[in-house]
Amino acid sequence: MIKKNAMNETGHHEMKATDDQRAAVMQIKVGPTHNYVAFFLTLSCNLRCRYCINLHSRSARTRTGPEKMSADDWINAANRLVLRDDLPLTIQGGEPTLYKGFYRFVNEVREDIKMDLLTNMSFDADEFIRKVPVRRFSREAPYAAIRVSYHPGQNDIEELIRKTIRLQAAGFRTGIYSVVHPEESGRAHIMQTMERCLKLGIDFRTKEFLGEWNGVLYGTYKYDDSVCGGKLKKCDCRTTEVLVDPAGYVHRCHADLYKGRQPVGHILDDDFTVREIDKFRSCSFYGDCNPCDVKIKTNRLQIFGHTSVEIKNLETMEHVISHERY
Ligand code: SF4
Ligand code: SF4
Repeated sequence: MIKKNAMNETGHHEMKATDDQRAAVMQIKVGPTHNYVAFFLTLSCNLRCRYCINLHSRSARTRTGPEKMSADDWINAANRLVLRDDLPLTIQGGEPTLYKGFYRFVNEVREDIKMDLLTNMSFDADEFIRKVPVRRFSREAPYAAIRVSYHPGQNDIEELIRKTIRLQAAGFRTGIYSVVHPEESGRAHIMQTMERCLKLGIDFRTKEFLGEWNGVLYGTYKYDDSVCGGKLKKCDCRTTEVLVDPAGYVHRCHADLYKGRQPVGHILDDDFTVREIDKFRSCSFYGDCNPCDVKIKTNRLQIFGHTSVEIKNLETMEHVISHERY
């Protein structure tokens, strides 16, 4: 029988694996239908972007942050993963390099696990180069493993360019990404910045603006009224992603993760497998979906048309209430 993890006196899960057989049982093996595996080391961030997707629906979790796992917990969690060659473990947040165990984590996780990093690059570039093994962020992919977000008015493009050139020279494949803001002045600035970066040999790419701005909803979504939809509806929903919050809870979507609701398990539970991810589960928050989950996007193979979640059996709450009554 597999033992459940115990909580130690600091509230952290302790791994009890003692032999190879048990370690094999505890593997979390990602299948061909899973498109993304992400550890949100922290939701804290040193920047305050007005359009931050983590603040969608005014989540308070970014300000206070849920319980965080220790570096040992995160290392144990990552070491359970069996990933495909084309699927890295993405480290994100918040700003993941603010997590105090960040350097231990990227050094001590099993060597064959490749990582991607989403960052606003507020870290010290010299320290990063000194402490992070290049091999951790090296793999064949149509995009850079280290993806830096440029947020005009929040971080400084001159600093990002300087640090990106430093990281590239040290062997890290690094690219800068920026959201194309709906306002014309913002859009023009991004386009000029992109042109400048490309001339400098920096991989600069743009991303679609998602969510509401001045009362207009931006983004291309698969399901009508799923984002900022007004009235909430009930549905069955299934994801293709493994999303782990700063406390180690696994969520079926970004909206649940940012709001801390209805985890499907804990990444350190001995009996947690990706089969939990594959189940359709009932949800009563359709209409408050996070754009990340329902937007039509490019998958890991750079093929357009993918959506993270699949939704069926949509019902208005009035229907649900009348079904339950009769
Ligand atoms: S850097 Fe990213 S996580 Fe931080 S506030 Fe901006 S969008 Fe949000
Ligand atoms: S319906 Fe929306 S809020 Fe509910 S689980 Fe799916 S993506 Fe998340």
